[in-house]
Amino acid sequence: MAEKRTELTELGEFGLIDRIEKQFSLQNSTSVKGIGDDAALISVGDDYLVVSTDMLLEGIHFDLSYVPLQHLGYKAVAVNVSDIAAMNAIPEQITIGLAFSNRFSLEAIDTLYSGIKSACENFKVDLVGGDTSSSASGLVISITAIGRVAKNKVALRNTAKANDIVCVTGDLGAAYLGLQVLEREKQVFLTNPEMQPELEKYEYLVGRQLKPEARMDIVYELADKNIVPTAMIDVSDGLASELLHLAKSSGLGIKVFEENVPIDSLTFETAIEFKIDPITCALNGGEDYELLFTIAPSDHEKLKNHPDIHFIGHMHTNAAQNVMVTKQQTVVPLKAQGWNHLR
Ligand code: ADP
Ligand code: MG
Repeated sequence: MAEKRTELTELGEFGLIDRIEKQFSLQNSTSVKGIGDDAALISVGDDYLVVSTDMLLEGIHFDLSYVPLQHLGYKAVAVNVSDIAAMNAIPEQITIGLAFSNRFSLEAIDTLYSGIKSACENFKVDLVGGDTSSSASGLVISITAIGRVAKNKVALRNTAKANDIVCVTGDLGAAYLGLQVLEREKQVFLTNPEMQPELEKYEYLVGRQLKPEARMDIVYELADKNIVPTAMIDVSDGLASELLHLAKSSGLGIKVFEENVPIDSLTFETAIEFKIDPITCALNGGEDYELLFTIAPSDHEKLKNHPDIHFIGHMHTNAAQNVMVTKQQTVVPLKAQGWNHLR
């Protein structure tokens, strides 16, 4: 009898991770939080060490025909710091696993590391180790970031309360449109190498795609104002996907208002140019690396005049109702298209 073969696409990325999680139980009392949040938590005295890994692969996450190596190095660190920020923690160390083919010169690796160095300086993290290997094809960068947070300050995904206010930082959808612009210019260039790419007009969008920032500034500001988010996650896969993660893991429903979702005016105009609904870019674009968090209603007063924090909705007790109220006042279900790497 033939052995059963199940396609991974049947489970999807999140289904596979759930399955792996069920197969392992935590054996050490210091392992407080394992798989399932932005980072793992390890108990050390009054603090948690916070550990997260993210991998970037050539051909999957980046295309070196338009991604400068220096920006790639910066981004590889920033996306990991973003997961540490999402726990309300401060990053302290990183390790780097690197694999590359003989296509890469010493100068290329130097350029990559100059971007890594500038991110280390910016986020005040120390590079403390890693591993180096050759690769059969492209470039692979896997970074593990380690941070620290006082136990009573940690922000998990599963601790939002009913009536908490849902907040998001910055603006959304720009990185996705930056990628669309870069892809379009690449096609133009491939058809006619004489043509120079026209990127100036889209500088903000392209910058959001190539050189994202982790929102450590927000983590520090919340601490200054004595606010601990009741739950937090970073926006890497698209707002809708992250909203559903927050709601599902907290056992609650979420209601957001389209008119409150922050979209930059250039993002808006460029979405129209690409014939995409701007809100679709914000909900499903991904790679924004903003912070999505919930606060107790009593903390609203302290944040209400913050220029870069937007109040987009609230949590409620009906876990089956995850919805967005559109600008036309119709209620539509939230659906995650997100980046599912196995589909
Ligand atoms: P994020 O988008 O914040 O980087 P992911 O969706 O990549 O988070 O991961 C969700 C959770 O699953 C995290 O806790 C992560 O550590 C864990 N995880 C992801 N891939 C694996 C794997 N192959 N084995 C074990 N745990 C994993
Ligand atoms: Mg994350």
